Amino acid sequence: MGETPLRLVFLGPPGAGKGTQAALLSAERSFAHISTGDMLREAAKRGTEIGRKAETFMKKGLLVPDEVVIAAVRERLRQSDARKGFVLDGFPRTLEQAKALEAMLQAEGLPLHAAVDITLGDEAVITRIAGRRTCPKCNRIYHVVADPPKKQGICDTDGEKLLQRADDREETVRERLAVYHRQTAPVASFYRERKLYRAVSSDGDLKEVGRRLGLVLSTLAT
Ligand code: AMP
Repeated sequence: MGETPLRLVFLGPPGAGKGTQAALLSAERSFAHISTGDMLREAAKRGTEIGRKAETFMKKGLLVPDEVVIAAVRERLRQSDARKGFVLDGFPRTLEQAKALEAMLQAEGLPLHAAVDITLGDEAVITRIAGRRTCPKCNRIYHVVADPPKKQGICDTDGEKLLQRADDREETVRERLAVYHRQTAPVASFYRERKLYRAVSSDGDLKEVGRRLGLVLSTLAT
């Protein structure tokens, strides 16, 4: 693949593999990988005001208020690496966020190329998230069966002990799914109307999903 600076958003339920595919793609094509979930977790770890506020929502599986997330993305997109293309992973999650993003990118003359919906059924989401483990240092995502680290429970990249995210427990995942169906699914219609919507099924292993994603991206006009 070439160096064309694609600007993408990844939609899809929690656990569909947005983060994993976004990380692979950004490494392969030097796009900025912008995960609002990672940004908010980092802020919470640092104990900033935004982080403390966000944490109360995240713990319950609820969305953090639009104005907080929109301000964070606005600032992040101003950084120079975003000029080389980006994948927004986990943003926008509401219609308000989608509209704000459209206005931001229009003002810069840098419109999106596609909104890729990485789709997965609810029961598959629950099973997949139960096996998900994350490195608290580099945020790399593993799966105990589908994508295990070389040494059990330890991050390949930096030797940190892998953790299960607090919001990856089953009750919280069910709440996150309900929130997804209620608030995030309408975002798909927003992008359908703009002819930017593409769907990629996340059924299958990492490589297979990556291959399907590559095919979709190869059809985008740049
Ligand atoms: P994620 O890592 O993308 O699954 O996000 C984890 C949690 O962070 C979500 O359940 C929300 O509480 C919060 N979050 C991440 N992105 C957003 C967003 N775009 N809007 C609101 N809340 C978000």
